[in-house]
Amino acid sequence: MPAQKSEFEKAVYEGGFRVLLTKELIAMRIDELGQQITRDYRGLEPIIIGVLNGAFIFMADLIRRIEIDVEVDFIKISSYGDAKMTSGQVVMLKDINAEIAGRHVLLVEDIVDTGLSIEFLRRKFTALNPASLKYVTFLFKPDSVKSDIRIDYVGFEIPSEFVVGYGLDHKQILRNLPAVYIMD
Ligand code: 5GP
Repeated sequence: MPAQKSEFEKAVYEGGFRVLLTKELIAMRIDELGQQITRDYRGLEPIIIGVLNGAFIFMADLIRRIEIDVEVDFIKISSYGDAKMTSGQVVMLKDINAEIAGRHVLLVEDIVDTGLSIEFLRRKFTALNPASLKYVTFLFKPDSVKSDIRIDYVGFEIPSEFVVGYGLDHKQILRNLPAVYIMD
């Protein structure tokens, strides 16, 4: 019996999913974001906090484009479970270890969809009295967002479709796709 095709193979080799952002385009945009953040945070030694799981690839690429001293930490939250629709509830699964009071904090998200997760993070981090709190997201869905929170750095604005790859999963797989795909 032939081996069953993986979802990865279907996406990359069989044109099963539509490419939304190529890896070249992603790399170019992250260069720009890195330069901007380098300029804005010079002399401030920010603490850059990645929101797991989705942001880990974006975070890894972004911090290597930032040319000042930065500290790094991670927080893990969940709002989706394994479904494509948000459950409407945010749960913290792993807290940060770093001391936040008086620090310049930059939160790194994979995607802002409804904005529920970022609202949860805003409340949590504001209560910790940082010197400043800003947000960077790889992807932003302007037609889905219900929060009025201002995202300081946006990689790409995208349509309200379910995307996978470059850190974003479907049922916990496909995060390792090097580009971003729309999953129909
Ligand atoms: P929000 O709280 O803004 O509605 O959603 C944020 C979280 O939902 C993201 O961190 C991400 O985990 C998940 N999410 C939202 N839209 C998508 C999408 O198009 N694809 C994937 N894979 N996850 C998404």
